[in-house]
Amino acid sequence: MTEDYVALLGTKGGPAIRPGSSMPTANLLCLNGQQIVVDCGLGVTRGLVGQGMQLKDLSLIFVSHMHSDHYLELGPLLHTAWTAGLKTDVDLYGPAGLDAYWDSFLASMKADIDLRIEDEGRPDLRNLVAIHVLDEGTVMARGGVSVTAIRTEHPPLVDCFAFSFRTDRTHVVFSGDTAPIKALEDFARGADLLIHEAMLEAALPALMARVGNGSDKLMAHWLRSHTFAHDAARIATKAGVRRLALSHLIPSDDPDYGVKDWQDAVAGHWDGPLIVGHDGIRIGL
Ligand SMILES: [Zn+2]
Ligand SMILES: [Zn+2]
Repeated sequence: MTEDYVALLGTKGGPAIRPGSSMPTANLLCLNGQQIVVDCGLGVTRGLVGQGMQLKDLSLIFVSHMHSDHYLELGPLLHTAWTAGLKTDVDLYGPAGLDAYWDSFLASMKADIDLRIEDEGRPDLRNLVAIHVLDEGTVMARGGVSVTAIRTEHPPLVDCFAFSFRTDRTHVVFSGDTAPIKALEDFARGADLLIHEAMLEAALPALMARVGNGSDKLMAHWLRSHTFAHDAARIATKAGVRRLALSHLIPSDDPDYGVKDWQDAVAGHWDGPLIVGHDGIRIGL
């Protein structure tokens, strides 16, 4: 049996990348020998290969919600896995609307897909992906891994999910994108690892000045739809989790703020092991 781990492939919040920045959200979870992809932001394909994954083994994908920093590279990942030899079914769990994205992606690549079926003898990619629409509660159980989901608070989206992955040995929870919610304390109760999104409050005004578009809409979105690091820390403490990892970091590319600032933001609210996410970090479970 291979070791259990989660690799944070992309750890920045939001879709934009700039020189020196980390990549949008994507994760690889290995449990009981199963390779599970959680979110497919830009860079997910490179990130998976970087972890040593054979893309033809892709079989299980979860997408938390339909913001581009979580699914922009979903189609390219599946297509690239197909060209890398994928012949077996992929189960894709995501919010309502993901089917329209997938159908449109396939339509946009129709010429290439048809050509490779004809010219290279590949199976039809259109028949390999089964989409399952997410709802709260039990999502699936397979090979000793059970998955449950709850809706988070991430307006204006309604279908935004946190995920819990359990085996008989470990319990990992992804917060998804969310404002701080009490429901997550219960959902993550006693987990071995909580991966929570986080913003650094002190750094937001500078970020707003750099990337804001002149209105206060972006700041208002951050404040109503995301979680400060200190609030993520409080949730982890109340949930009694064993370890806390911060990801979906906002900001992620401000040279004036580094790991120490995230540690300082959490201090006093969480005194357990803290992992400040960076792209490619592998956390043993
Ligand atoms: Zn996001
Ligand atoms: Zn989002």
